[in-house]
Amino acid sequence: MRELTEIEKKLINKVAGGIEITGRPFEKIASELGMSESEAVRALRTLAEEKRIRRAAAILGQRQIGYSANAMCVFNVDADKIDAAGEYAASFAEVSHCYKRAKSEKWPYNLYAMVHGHEKSECEAVAQKIAASSGASSYKLLYSIRELKKENMIYFSGTACAPAVSPRLIAWEMSAACNLKCVHCRACSTMERSESELSTAECFEFLKDIASMPGKPVLIMSGGEPLIRPDFFEILEYAAALGINKVLATNATMITEKIAARLAACGVSAASVSIDGPNAAEHDKFRRVEGAFAMSLKGIELLKAAGIKIQINISVTRHNYDKIDAIFRLAETLGASSIHIFMLVPTGRAENMKGEEISAVEYERLLNWFYDKKREIGGRINLKATCAPHYYRIMRERARADGLEITERNFGMDAKTRGCLAGCGFAFVSACGIVQGCGYMPIAAGNIREKKFSEIYTHSDFFMKLRDLSLLKGKCGKCAYKKVCGGCRARALASNGDCFAEEPYCGYEPEK
Ligand code: SF4
Ligand code: SF4
Repeated sequence: MRELTEIEKKLINKVAGGIEITGRPFEKIASELGMSESEAVRALRTLAEEKRIRRAAAILGQRQIGYSANAMCVFNVDADKIDAAGEYAASFAEVSHCYKRAKSEKWPYNLYAMVHGHEKSECEAVAQKIAASSGASSYKLLYSIRELKKENMIYFSGTACAPAVSPRLIAWEMSAACNLKCVHCRACSTMERSESELSTAECFEFLKDIASMPGKPVLIMSGGEPLIRPDFFEILEYAAALGINKVLATNATMITEKIAARLAACGVSAASVSIDGPNAAEHDKFRRVEGAFAMSLKGIELLKAAGIKIQINISVTRHNYDKIDAIFRLAETLGASSIHIFMLVPTGRAENMKGEEISAVEYERLLNWFYDKKREIGGRINLKATCAPHYYRIMRERARADGLEITERNFGMDAKTRGCLAGCGFAFVSACGIVQGCGYMPIAAGNIREKKFSEIYTHSDFFMKLRDLSLLKGKCGKCAYKKVCGGCRARALASNGDCFAEEPYCGYEPEK
């Protein structure tokens, strides 16, 4: 077992001595030790993972602060009302955490909420309100005499959509330059690399920071075309040495047998390639380079031969809306292990494509078709509707009609994720170091040249706002599905100049 560092020993002594009840207790402890808050939290998480400490969290001594009535309230709620009931329960200040569990024959309760009160009557009043609003057929209060021990205080939350510690995915535009000129390009790419792109040394610093983040985020090495960087393999080898999980987003036109082998040797497990038409003529028109289709298909074969899995991305516009089935068939023929559909976001070069987006009605139709396709294909190919947040609403509507529960068993990862991940599990880093919620949302949360990515992701004001669902406006603000959908914030920004406005391409009308 490794030796603890001096700073780790001091940190353990500090937290073991009791944590002061303040808004940011770890910030205070960290500053006393000359560390940043996120460094302290990361160090504590590492210590917890290594089982040196039991948990990296404050334990609230609720009795010491006067909360003597603490009840686990359990409710029997209809399956189609449980998410709304959970949201409602979590909106009470008296509820520290709540979650759902399967009912059993002898225990008909499926919604649990931990309610804290100074007196039992306070817990009872809250439980009564939750039961009345959710139409619970029965409920119980089980008083606890123990102190609360919870790391994750709110399971369902009325306002927070994701934990802020670490993203699951980071898309990194390694270069904005590209050898193609796609009409829908977010990066407005050119053939020439910009002088302001991150240097090799800056890329290394960024990678070291990612490697130190808890949860091991997956790095999507993207562009423009990432392979256009002459130091691409130097950077990739550095990421591999740090043990970073990485995948490649490429147009595949520059792939050779040697490059594919080198990618595989560096642990690139998957590559995504965009195919936007069912044949060369349609695809090349979109990519604006004759022969792009043939080159991409050749690259795909070489990647597959090197053992790299292929994800086909399809950008859906009016041009290919009615050809999606044919592109799917092509992707299957190409041996794709994943197929992702992307909805056009009219930013970057695609700003000129305003009006090329499919309508809200077509959206609804496509996402319903996608639901059926997923059920037909099963687990054979991983299908994902990316940046089509209202798919997660449609999936729930359809599942309810089909009598299916939203569980991982029935819906895989779709049961655990949400629609818009911008700043909530996902972030984008531009070629010159700007951190954004996603590549389609031109609002800077910070720049890794000035501050570490890990700091920006956790603490930037803009990301904190993106995680606060109470800021959503219009119909997204009052929608019962906002926690699982959230609407596309980039399309809201492009259409209304306000990224918290309602999603312009959703046909759903929430109940008042
Ligand atoms: S705002 Fe969200 S849904 Fe929209 S493009 Fe970005 S990540 Fe995708
Ligand atoms: S109204 Fe907004 S939150 Fe509700 S389903 Fe539509 S896009 Fe999603």
